[in-house]
Amino acid sequence: MYLHKTHSLVKYMFPSFTWHMPTQQTELFLTFDDGPIPGVTDFVLEQLDQHDAKGTFFCVGDNVRKYPDEFRRVLQKGHAVGNHTFHHLNGWRTDDEHYLDNIRRCDEVMQAVGGDDFEHRPLGRRLFRPPYGRVTRDQIRMVRPQYRVIMWDVLTADYDASLGQERCLQKALQYSRPGSIVIFHDSHKAEKNLRYVLPRLLDHFSEKGFQFKTL
Ligand SMILES: [Zn+2]
Repeated sequence: MYLHKTHSLVKYMFPSFTWHMPTQQTELFLTFDDGPIPGVTDFVLEQLDQHDAKGTFFCVGDNVRKYPDEFRRVLQKGHAVGNHTFHHLNGWRTDDEHYLDNIRRCDEVMQAVGGDDFEHRPLGRRLFRPPYGRVTRDQIRMVRPQYRVIMWDVLTADYDASLGQERCLQKALQYSRPGSIVIFHDSHKAEKNLRYVLPRLLDHFSEKGFQFKTL
């Protein structure tokens, strides 16, 4: 059983995080975690292009290192990128110094690979999303001066292959509303559901006049 919709109590406990964008406009904020991964990230980029959509990619530093061309393509197409640590660390199980150092390493590789495109990314502010949403209060206190911490309000659970594609899609359609931050994963684990859900979600909300924007 998944909590596809983030519970309001959780949001209340962490008010400094961004869970939802404050807009009444018909806009959605699609986010893609854990890439870049050849093939999967390219599929996402194609789909976004076809719908004239922009998204935000929370990249794992080690994948940026391994797949620099994919990372550069994300930037060149005008999408936003954010930091998802270098090794996809669980903050609850990582000491603070190591955690911060891993975030720094992720930034360094994004900077080295992305160059000017990384510096001039549309938002001009650094974005951070803690892997698994697991981060301690101390870690957040240390991260916050430099980063806006981005959570989500719609979890597609695309990474769970046992979840039916259609159910995954229906939940995403049901819970998304103006300003929603929706999580997908451009990973091998999520690929099957992602390939089904993303094009249909883009079609559905495009027909309703929604725009898809970067954070
Ligand atoms: Zn992740």
